[in-house]
Amino acid sequence: MPYNNVVVLTGAGISAESGIKTFRDNNGLWENHAVEDVATPEAFRRNPDLVYDFYNQRRRQLLSPDIKANEAHVALAEFERRFTGDFLLVTQNIDDLHERAGSQNVLHMHGELLQSRCCHSQRIVNTLTDVTQSSRCNCCNPAQALRPNIVWFGEMPMFMDEIEKALSKADLFVAIGTSGQVYPAAGFVAQANYYGAHSVEVNLVASDVHSQFKEHYQGNATEAVPAFFNALLKDS
Ligand code: NAD
Repeated sequence: MPYNNVVVLTGAGISAESGIKTFRDNNGLWENHAVEDVATPEAFRRNPDLVYDFYNQRRRQLLSPDIKANEAHVALAEFERRFTGDFLLVTQNIDDLHERAGSQNVLHMHGELLQSRCCHSQRIVNTLTDVTQSSRCNCCNPAQALRPNIVWFGEMPMFMDEIEKALSKADLFVAIGTSGQVYPAAGFVAQANYYGAHSVEVNLVASDVHSQFKEHYQGNATEAVPAFFNALLKDS
């Protein structure tokens, strides 16, 4: 294998075949909602009930028995297990399907659906049930309101220092199922290229930053991702 430092970025497309709808493939609506109504700090201030309800519905769907990790999630976990170099999986997804497949070194740069955050202390708690305006934290006295631990549009993504450090060392950068429309993630390919990595896009259709990748695989994630990563392991 010609690589020692691999960084993978995943987006909503990798979870599409698990039954979780992407965002851009539905006329720019996310489960029939405009993002500015459910995924911005302004929306949360304006109509908190709608925002809590939106994420409660997403969480219930994620925890329903018919949602499972797919072959693409499994192939990435298997690659990480067998690869002897450094491996980092950065995901824009808020679902936990990478973890369910067995991935270990995962950074959720846009937060996690199965977590809430204290609005006062910012402490994170695991959340498997609905959260409402009357839900309260266990960390403050008096107890304070909780919000979804999600990075909304207009907020700073998480783990940017770690991600930028990993990109600066990467010799292979692979982006899977992401439209290339949401920054800073859409800019990772430029950073990886700048530091000399080989860059590969795996997507159903060409993304907005398609031309910046040096190699492309077009197809469903459940076929293209196992094919690509299994071939890399065979090369080693
Ligand atoms: P996006 O919805 O903007 O783009 C999805 C991309 O996946 C598209 O380029 C599409 O062509 C591709 N795609 C669709 N089906 C595919 C398949 N079967 N195989 C391979 N590729 C496929 O997604 P994004 O770029 O990740 O940005 C959306 C934002 O919305 C993210 O910030 C994310 O937090 C949030 N979101 C998350 C989830 C989730 O956690 N599963 C779902 C929807 C939206």
